[in-house]
Amino acid sequence: MSQEHEFPPFVNEPFTDFGQDAHREAMLSALSKVKSELGKAYPLHIGGKEVHTTDRIVSINPARTDEIIGSVSKATLEHAELAMCSALAVFETWKKRPAVERAALLVKAAGLMRERKHEFSAWMVLEAGKNWGEADADTAEAIDFLEYYAREMVRLDQTNELRPLVKTPGEENRLSYIPLGVGVVIPPWNFPLAICAGMSAAAVVSGNTILLKPASTTPVIAYKFYEVMVEAGIPADVIQYVPGSGGEIGDYLTSHPKTRFISFTGSKEIGLRINRLAAEQAPGQIWIKRIVAEMGGKDGVVVDETANLDAAADAIVASAFGFQGQKCSAGSRAIIVQQVYDELVEKIKERTDRLVMGMPEDNAPIGPVVDHSSYKRILNYIEIGKKEGRLLSGGKPGPEGGYFIQPTVIADVAGDAVIMQEEIFGPVLAISKASDWQEAIRMYNDTEFGLTGSYFSTDEKRIAVALEEMHCGNLYVNRKCTGALVGVHPFGGFNMSGTDSKAGGHDYLLLFTQAKLTSRKI
Ligand code: NAP
Repeated sequence: MSQEHEFPPFVNEPFTDFGQDAHREAMLSALSKVKSELGKAYPLHIGGKEVHTTDRIVSINPARTDEIIGSVSKATLEHAELAMCSALAVFETWKKRPAVERAALLVKAAGLMRERKHEFSAWMVLEAGKNWGEADADTAEAIDFLEYYAREMVRLDQTNELRPLVKTPGEENRLSYIPLGVGVVIPPWNFPLAICAGMSAAAVVSGNTILLKPASTTPVIAYKFYEVMVEAGIPADVIQYVPGSGGEIGDYLTSHPKTRFISFTGSKEIGLRINRLAAEQAPGQIWIKRIVAEMGGKDGVVVDETANLDAAADAIVASAFGFQGQKCSAGSRAIIVQQVYDELVEKIKERTDRLVMGMPEDNAPIGPVVDHSSYKRILNYIEIGKKEGRLLSGGKPGPEGGYFIQPTVIADVAGDAVIMQEEIFGPVLAISKASDWQEAIRMYNDTEFGLTGSYFSTDEKRIAVALEEMHCGNLYVNRKCTGALVGVHPFGGFNMSGTDSKAGGHDYLLLFTQAKLTSRKI
């Protein structure tokens, strides 16, 4: 039996139906368990050992800003250096563990996460302000990444058997994918478990060791991820848990001569900075650093006059306001052809006005944005938007005590307006009118980004053109532009949206490996 068959085929983790009493009760009890653990202090983990610092990152509940989720130790440059030395040392043994063994540890971690699924989700409800459904989807995606990359590693390890090289008499040839070395993994806060788990697991299962620098707004859930990986049997020093200031240890590690690769997901600004710094050869550096950078988006939904307008309105509102518009895939633009513009804009307004804002722990559809600087930035964009178009819904802060902002819709916005061009990363939808479907597609393409998009139509010829012409990494037809599933919709964007690394797809692990050809005379 081949190694591949030691794991059952991959299936996506199902989402929880919180309409069922048992699931609702389970989530409530997970929330009270997590609440009883709030306010704890978490150490760094360097070389498998706990390191406590007096300088700390304090993580708060964005829905109730006086509630402390936990505080984590903050790594200095000295800690980052120690972590690098430790990661370099353990790389020499970890890279030699058979691929199938590394993969099995990921599957074990997925199992542990599944057992405590609601607990992981509850941490995200409180630390990131996700409602139950959004948090549950995040946990399910994290489990999927662990299960999927485990199987992908085994497949990659068997490349020679599955895709043999051309045979040449007198030679024995083999292509194998070997790990790169020590990587720095820098996830964002908006999928604080799934993206953190996916980026880390892919690097580690490929045989690399990593320094995990979580986002400073969600370091506790990243700690919970670190814990579960160690509990599953990943040696404690294969992942060095080093929260700290992005600008300080981020720059240091990006420029470090021993950093072999950087796996980053976050804003365009930081992604470009990392790309620039990493391109410089530091003294003692003997490789070109590999950069995997997934960045922002200005995603949009295009609707022509043949479309089902109710389905389009549902999709536009779900894409724009799911998790308060704080998804890289969020549909922050709607481009609608003039024949159906007024009718569809009215439907969007009706649906937006019905959205209820409240506490994530009570499972309110709309919660807070993540922190004070996001809150200020988004309100500032709303003021710009009010001058660039017609305010239809929202436009104001929500209840006090948390970073709440009303879901905001601004119509009649020109294609080149600031709120049609810049990523806002909050609950703000800009709507533009196009003279026809071709102009709508042109307007969709008229940004520097290219992450997700959606085209609504019943006209097959136009759909065929849209599939070819709309330039983005993840293009959908007659459905929302958020909600990519691991293995089903490999995810990553074009242009300033990143290096199109296609997380959750067959090509992803290649980014964390290098191919070595060996040829032996026989
Ligand atoms: P961000 O501000 O760029 O931060 C991302 C990560 O980079 C954080 O861990 C941050 O640490 C760290 N960082 C900051 N400065 C750094 C530096 N100089 N060197 C190295 N690391 C540094 O982004 P965010 O606000 O967390 O996330 C939102 C952004 O991510 C949006 O633009 C969104 O579109 C994008 N995103 C893209 C995808 C995708 O797949 N394309 C997925 C999710 C999110 P600190 O927290 O300590 O500053």
